[in-house]
Amino acid sequence: MSVVIGIACAHEASGSTGRWHVDGAYIRAVTGAGGVPVLIPPAGDSKRLEAVLDRVDGLLLPGGIDVDPYLYGEEPLPGLGKVDPEWDALDVAAARAALARGLPVLGICRGAQVLNVAAGGTLYQDIPAQVPHALQHWQNRPGWAASHSVSVVPDSLLAGIAGRRRLRVNSFHHQAVKDVAAGFRAVAHGADGVVEAIESLVHPYALGVQWHPERMAHEPHHWRLFLSLIEAARAWRAARGGREIFGEERVFDAEFSLRDIKEN
Ligand code: MN
Repeated sequence: MSVVIGIACAHEASGSTGRWHVDGAYIRAVTGAGGVPVLIPPAGDSKRLEAVLDRVDGLLLPGGIDVDPYLYGEEPLPGLGKVDPEWDALDVAAARAALARGLPVLGICRGAQVLNVAAGGTLYQDIPAQVPHALQHWQNRPGWAASHSVSVVPDSLLAGIAGRRRLRVNSFHHQAVKDVAAGFRAVAHGADGVVEAIESLVHPYALGVQWHPERMAHEPHHWRLFLSLIEAARAWRAARGGREIFGEERVFDAEFSLRDIKEN
């Protein structure tokens, strides 16, 4: 059964309207894991965005630029990077809609931060300025190469997916989860205490990782994140598909009745 995974687009604010696009690494990861990727740009309003989400079986919130601190009630600090209100609006609306309906959602890097903010959590606007003794979280090596370790909380969804308590991850972020949103918990930390993954306590599959597994897909414990998203999307579809199966049975019944009538 193929499942459709919506990937929220990134926004490049150039020209009058900008460009909405998705990095090929996310598309490759979704197709490689057995999903059908569909790109999600802004739909016009939240009602129409929800109509788009009605048609997908899972959501991927990819990496990108900083999240506007206004969204979690803070003023911008000097270390805040580039923000984009249109991009934030799309991501936060998509995250909230996914969380509200229980749609499987995987947030990557910015996507993990978006999940936290969408659910009412806060962020460090700039790790070097705000977290004493922080590690290097913007690595100076290729994206496929791990740079720091994270410890994974046992008995978490993430631990089950990764299959280990310690992971080596890549790191391209200067923001991080500060206060974890209500209904979520931190499930991975760097040696400096920086939150490296969060997951929902109530939603069957709402997971955010601070690293970029799509660039480390050659390593099984990172690749399994994408397999797990597809698996969750299949379960989601099967649960909803009960109605579709019932619909097919009714069609079959109708045909049977018709044949029955003709034969008699
Ligand atoms: Mn990191």
